[in-house]
Amino acid sequence: MAIREILLLGNPGLRMKCSPVKRFGTRELRTVITDLRHTLSDFRKQNGFGRGIAAPQIGLAQRVIFLHIDKPFALINPRIMVRRGGKLTLWDDCFSFPDLLVKVHRNFAVRVSYQDLHGTKHTLHAEGPLSELLQHEIDHLNGVLAIDRAIDSRHIILRSEYMKWRKEKHHAL
Ligand SMILES: [Zn+2]
Repeated sequence: MAIREILLLGNPGLRMKCSPVKRFGTRELRTVITDLRHTLSDFRKQNGFGRGIAAPQIGLAQRVIFLHIDKPFALINPRIMVRRGGKLTLWDDCFSFPDLLVKVHRNFAVRVSYQDLHGTKHTLHAEGPLSELLQHEIDHLNGVLAIDRAIDSRHIILRSEYMKWRKEKHHAL
């Protein structure tokens, strides 16, 4: 197990298109999953947020993501099969640019196919927060970042300013 360094915005590793995992149940794949799990859990401890991480964020160009919402689990070769529902609009964030917030549109619901450690195929229907998280993490596997999805350039802001603005607004109410 290891806590890996998270690649930051500007690192070309974040722009790679990742390759599908072809060999399952291997020690190598277990290590990728364990490293993602520990790196995510360390980031949560240090920053107080973080629900998912993608392999390219720790420098591995493989189609693996790891989520921790209710319980931690890995999705290998995840693919969005269906996008449904109205648009969700939200301020998104990312471990690779933790000081920024980006307003994006995401689909309210998605159906995602993926494989587990052993290569068994699964389908997941996700709505709301899980849906937008899956869209964020699967984008990483194609070298796409939340800033690429910003509604426009005015909607890329510093987290500290967002907090200040929210506080001021709150006081004004
Ligand atoms: Zn991210």
